[in-house]
Amino acid sequence: MRVLSGIQPTGRFHWGNYFGAIRQYIQLQHEHDGYYFIADLHALNTVRDAASLRDHVLDAAIDLLALGLDPKKATLFVQSEVPEVCQLCWLLMTGTPMGLLERCHAYKDKKAKGLNASAGLFTYPVLMAADILAYDANWVPVGEDQLQHIEVCRDLARSFNAHYGEVFMIPEGKIVEGAAKVPGIDGEKMSKSYDNTLAIFEDPKAQRKKIMRIATDSRPMDQPKEPEGDTLFDLLKLVGTPTEVDEVAAIDRRGQFGYGDIKKRLADASERYFAEARDRRAALEQNSEFVLQVLAEGADRARQVAAKVLYRAQQACGTLRAASS
Ligand code: ATP
Ligand code: MG
Repeated sequence: MRVLSGIQPTGRFHWGNYFGAIRQYIQLQHEHDGYYFIADLHALNTVRDAASLRDHVLDAAIDLLALGLDPKKATLFVQSEVPEVCQLCWLLMTGTPMGLLERCHAYKDKKAKGLNASAGLFTYPVLMAADILAYDANWVPVGEDQLQHIEVCRDLARSFNAHYGEVFMIPEGKIVEGAAKVPGIDGEKMSKSYDNTLAIFEDPKAQRKKIMRIATDSRPMDQPKEPEGDTLFDLLKLVGTPTEVDEVAAIDRRGQFGYGDIKKRLADASERYFAEARDRRAALEQNSEFVLQVLAEGADRARQVAAKVLYRAQQACGTLRAASS
């Protein structure tokens, strides 16, 4: 099975990205043919500064490798380094009803907020469909919020096939298993745009300070409480050992505890949990040649697959003059 997943390089990855997506995707490389791309073309909708985008792309590659993505097992590449995807996107675009895109939530939400959407955001689901179809992906693990876009991809592929003949594999979207919804330091969903994140690789001291600022329950500390649903506890569950988690649950239920103590445990657990990846990251940072080589080889492999799919699509719709036998 070919599994495909993309992640946008719009800033440093945080715990929500890791426990909600990256961890599960990397796990899949062991049993499947993993294709992972850094979606810089999608990121252009939000990152409008060249130097930042370049930094984010390289950081994303280093982060993914440090977190365990194995380039011997999986194919890691940058979206824009496979130009076939944009060509395919256009072929799909000509068969995409406006109404279908008008119903897509990324665009609808932005419009509802009275914000100006770019054509890039409006047509984002078509580029995403090209991203998936270009690699004959069987399976696209996604969060719930992306299921609609997978449906668009399936619709576009099916109608292209119905019109021009069997060109595209129809992919399956599947909700990632074991994905956690991670709260941010203010208790809302952790999200870059809410500025409430704990970044995976931020300086441990800075992170400790942030953890100390996590919004806690307004109930007095000496009152017993249920740990589930408490931000501190939910975060500890991600990085703590089972023993630590049990201990903190017991402390919560007993009452008469100090939040400061639990926060300290959380900061320690976080440092421990990401220590190995942090070391790997430091080594990779010193070896950008290796990282660039991984990306170049990944793009080569990805292009070979995408070129074949594009060729099928071009032949089917007539933009290639001579259909070869
Ligand atoms: P933005 O604020 O721009 O939406 P983000 O920080 O929410 O950015 P996304 O790019 O939306 O990050 O998400 C990347 C991946 O991480 C997606 O698969 C998404 O489901 C997952 N993800 C992001 N935040 C969380 C979270 N708090 N809990 C679980 N998964 C998350
Ligand atoms: Mg988001």
